[in-house]
Amino acid sequence: MVIEGNETVEHFSQVSERLEQYREEMINLQRELVSRVAVGPDQGGPGEAEKAAYLEELLTGWGLRVDNYPAPDPRVAGGGRPNLVAWLPGQRVDKVWVLSHLDVVPPGDVSLWDSDPYTLRVDGDRLIGRGTEDNHSAIVSSLMAVKALLDLGITPPRSVGLALVSDEETGSKNGLDFLITTQPQLFSPQDLIIVPDAGSPDSTLVEVAEKSILWLRLTLLGKQSHASRPQLGKNTLRATAHVIVALEALHREFAGENPLFDPPVSTFEPTQKEANVGNINTIPGRDVFYLDCRVLPEFDLERVKARVEGIAWETAAKFGVSLEVEVIQELPSPTPTDPEAPVVKALVRAIREVYGREAKPQGIGGGTVAAFFRQRGLPAAVWMTVTHSAHQPNEYCLVSNLVGDARVLAHVFLSEG
Ligand SMILES: [Zn+2]
Repeated sequence: MVIEGNETVEHFSQVSERLEQYREEMINLQRELVSRVAVGPDQGGPGEAEKAAYLEELLTGWGLRVDNYPAPDPRVAGGGRPNLVAWLPGQRVDKVWVLSHLDVVPPGDVSLWDSDPYTLRVDGDRLIGRGTEDNHSAIVSSLMAVKALLDLGITPPRSVGLALVSDEETGSKNGLDFLITTQPQLFSPQDLIIVPDAGSPDSTLVEVAEKSILWLRLTLLGKQSHASRPQLGKNTLRATAHVIVALEALHREFAGENPLFDPPVSTFEPTQKEANVGNINTIPGRDVFYLDCRVLPEFDLERVKARVEGIAWETAAKFGVSLEVEVIQELPSPTPTDPEAPVVKALVRAIREVYGREAKPQGIGGGTVAAFFRQRGLPAAVWMTVTHSAHQPNEYCLVSNLVGDARVLAHVFLSEG
């Protein structure tokens, strides 16, 4: 149990009050960010340079030191993808990090938007535009929390590092992966690392673990024939149906439960099915389907793969059909962040104080940028208040959540423990 000093409590109520007064400033910052298209070159965009330059100038204007560690990328103007680190010095050498990403995904079908994706639209508490939630919510709430401390002249116990990275939406090779590989000295296991890039609408999901991801393509090869003479063919659709049913055994063979996750079990879902023949009276001789596996961290993906192959081969062979299994994606989950880690406890206390709710450390189905920290033994927690509109048309965030999340981050910045 951490007892906060009187000064800390006093500081937090000052900061909290100040953040309430920043509503207009938060809306204006969202407007500036939304208007600067930061789609990465992998998705046909110009990259993050314009948005990064705007933020670098803003933060430098506040008196913060801002370092840039650009990842070389000849596809963008200037030849580099920006990775900014802004510093608010504290009383101690250990740090609190907030990692946000600069890039956004493309708007998709623009006809599905009710207004221009790159012009902020304000509708009551709603701010609508590409990136408002993913990941401008993180940028705005973390910057405003720092600004409140600056404006009030408060030096936090820990130094605050704001990392604003590129390339999160397309694999992070030119973003956090690059930063952490080339500047490993920036991060220490003692630091509190917060990644506001996922969460729940009621603010209570603190993500500490991921399932491993395994995507497989199964191709069944038989013999095409006329449907009236099945004895001359080898029907791959029938074999596929039996293989899918047989693969239900995976649920029993990898049956463990882990209460960190919802659902608490490994999942093995047949998903996409490629088209086979184009007419009713032909027996197909080739079928392709995909299996999306989300596996609890305690199971080895090699074993899962071996069992998928074993079960599928054995079943397909009964129909004289052969089989090929290819890995489309394989991401073994890193060691989870300890649910008792200081960053988790600090967030849970802050959420209780600000939102009046009990947050819970949990695992998710997989795939956050926090994995790059966890792979290096750096305990990171993923948390923010979301609307679940990321990547969708009419993406939005709520101003009330920006204020609330900024207060939560400020609470962590001020915490001594
Ligand atoms: Zn994101």
